[in-house]
Amino acid sequence: MVLNKSKYLNMKTISIAVVCMLSFFLSPTTKAQSALFMPKNIKKVYQDSSRSYDGKPGENYFQNTTDYTIEAQFDPQSRLLTGSENIVFTNNSPDSLRLVVFNLYGNLYKKGAARRVTIDTGDADEGVVLSKLVFNGETIDLESKAVSIDGPNLTVKLPWAIRSGTAVEFTIDWQFIFPANTNIREGRYYETNYFIAYWFPRIAVYDDINGWNKHVYSGEQEFYNEYGDFDVQVTVPINYLVWASGLLQNPQEVYGKTILKRFEKSKTTDEIIHVVSAADIKKGKLTADNEFNTWHFKAEYINDFAFATSNTYLWDATSVEIGGNRIPVNAVYYEGSKDFHEVAELSRQSLKLLSEKSIGVDYPYPQLTAFNGHYGMEFPMMINDGDGSNRNETIFVTAHEIAHSYFPFLVGTNEQKYAWMDEGLVTFLPKEIETEMSDNSTYNALNNSVLTYSYFAGSKYDLPLMIPSEQLTGRTYMYLSYSKASAAFYTLRDVLAKDVFQQCLIEFIKRWEGKHPTAYDFFFTFNDVSGEELDWFWKPWFFEFGFPDLAVVNVEKMADGAYVIDVEKMGNYPTPVHLVVNFADGSNEFIYESAKVWKDGGNKLQVTIETKKDISSVAIDRKKVPDANRENNIFEMSMKN
Ligand SMILES: [Zn+2]
Repeated sequence: MVLNKSKYLNMKTISIAVVCMLSFFLSPTTKAQSALFMPKNIKKVYQDSSRSYDGKPGENYFQNTTDYTIEAQFDPQSRLLTGSENIVFTNNSPDSLRLVVFNLYGNLYKKGAARRVTIDTGDADEGVVLSKLVFNGETIDLESKAVSIDGPNLTVKLPWAIRSGTAVEFTIDWQFIFPANTNIREGRYYETNYFIAYWFPRIAVYDDINGWNKHVYSGEQEFYNEYGDFDVQVTVPINYLVWASGLLQNPQEVYGKTILKRFEKSKTTDEIIHVVSAADIKKGKLTADNEFNTWHFKAEYINDFAFATSNTYLWDATSVEIGGNRIPVNAVYYEGSKDFHEVAELSRQSLKLLSEKSIGVDYPYPQLTAFNGHYGMEFPMMINDGDGSNRNETIFVTAHEIAHSYFPFLVGTNEQKYAWMDEGLVTFLPKEIETEMSDNSTYNALNNSVLTYSYFAGSKYDLPLMIPSEQLTGRTYMYLSYSKASAAFYTLRDVLAKDVFQQCLIEFIKRWEGKHPTAYDFFFTFNDVSGEELDWFWKPWFFEFGFPDLAVVNVEKMADGAYVIDVEKMGNYPTPVHLVVNFADGSNEFIYESAKVWKDGGNKLQVTIETKKDISSVAIDRKKVPDANRENNIFEMSMKN
């Protein structure tokens, strides 16, 4: 993908100047190592200049591509999904590849498959059934020894190697019975409405660190995909509409006349257009009057493709202007949904606010569709969300799933190793805009997220973030990837200040757009762009067992009437210091010190406050300080008597 400079927020000149000066004074020009622990296979790629200690892709970094042309048919009655696909694989690695690994995610539903999720017993069947595999015109015997299947991974020994710098073609014919009752990332809703994901055989990632990625998809860990162009045709029966991870190429051929007119109008206005109403569904005529319609979508350089099809869902459409382009926005939902009537508008607002505020990079895709399925799941240009239990939850899920457009899609982070990179960032980054979109004046999404981490901080589930995500499961996986990582980013932003944090984030996105960064590429980019040595922060929060815990240990009235407050850092994780000073007259005052006060390794902080009033107590502000232990948070002056 061509880097479009205009999609990045121009930070204030002043902050860039400050950052540059800091870089000049504090950062050596080329770093040759890091004090952070690095597993030896990861260290090697930095030493080999595939990646670099300043956080940029190294001169030997490579990125393979996989371009897909897929023709798929889906029968909503039998749930049979059949496909014929052509993959052009370009080997940009320095290696000759004699083996190729394909991911058959549908094998999660194969009888006897190893899973970390529960599936409906009726949905266990044959998984993905292949009927043809052709490599550069040569048919590969699927029964031969050259082909082996390990769960979701199909490994093929090729008749000859794919040389470095060459492209080859695979053709695969396959079929798969889509699950009837199991909702994982995909699902069937209200009988006839489907969100179809993790559905087509794809070539696994071959990267500099692991070679072929042989992660066994268990239903739990999510994306680590290769990039490429998609040209996808989906054939479904009359009156089934289709939305997908791409732009529809043939709207005139597939929509009913009225639907087409409304859809076209929605692309030019901020208003919400009801493209499909309950009355339209009764009438039929949603699509062109053919027994089957073929919906043709194209997308450039994305790392996954999902589609949804429905014959009874309502459809609201609108659009939003971002960076001079109008982005079409769709919400497709069950008529009885509690909250989806508002999701087109919330998606519109989220796209705008994420682009212009939370992230500072324009939404990278040409459309967005929010589909009313279950829970919350992200794909390029498509999100699959259930009903929220209240409006704030709907706002959270909508903003969160849309924010995933940046991580792991625009930037291809590895969720199997570092799920916190995308889940943590997209849990943390939209917090202020979630608060802004809420109609409850006392709601503060950021404060709530701090409290959520504090709740399990220091428990047996509070493990170091750098434990590879595929080694985690259940609540530990969730707590770490979402809540703990969010608290870590909250503290990091406090250390750097908002402007510099965003500058680092934007530069990280620019450097790694369409590529596969490791956690170290993130750490090193933040060190490099901020001009600060942040290992004192990365080490405890990402590599060490432990927890954050501040205590107010003493408050002393001095002879001159001033008070001295002693704060102690009892945990090993640094946090910002937010104190609430309560006076005897019922008033209060807030004191703040950046988490940077702990940079030099000290664990004691003394704050003096000049006041004519009497202090009654001093407390750690729990809403703003990640903190594992509440017991030592309040110092009452009455305790001194
Ligand atoms: Zn997420």
